Amino acid sequence: MNKHERSEIKKTILAQIDALVEELPALGKAPGEILRLRRLEATLMRIDADNFGACFKCERAIPMNSLRICPESTICSACLAEPAV
Ligand SMILES: [Zn+2]
Repeated sequence: MNKHERSEIKKTILAQIDALVEELPALGKAPGEILRLRRLEATLMRIDADNFGACFKCERAIPMNSLRICPESTICSACLAEPAV
């Protein structure tokens, strides 16, 4: 992940946090949304780490398209699709 992509994902996270915070009162503080908010905040903390964007399991880069939609992803789609051992 290059510097430009990192800053793009950072902006994406901030925008998603803003949107969630705005939606929360209407959603009646849905537990799922609160969990997602916490995950996005945690993602923001580790975005500057060298291994940010790498799959926790296989260490391959998670595609930018996936990170744009779901920046808090820590596992790539290939690993997610693998049946649990
Ligand atoms: Zn993986």
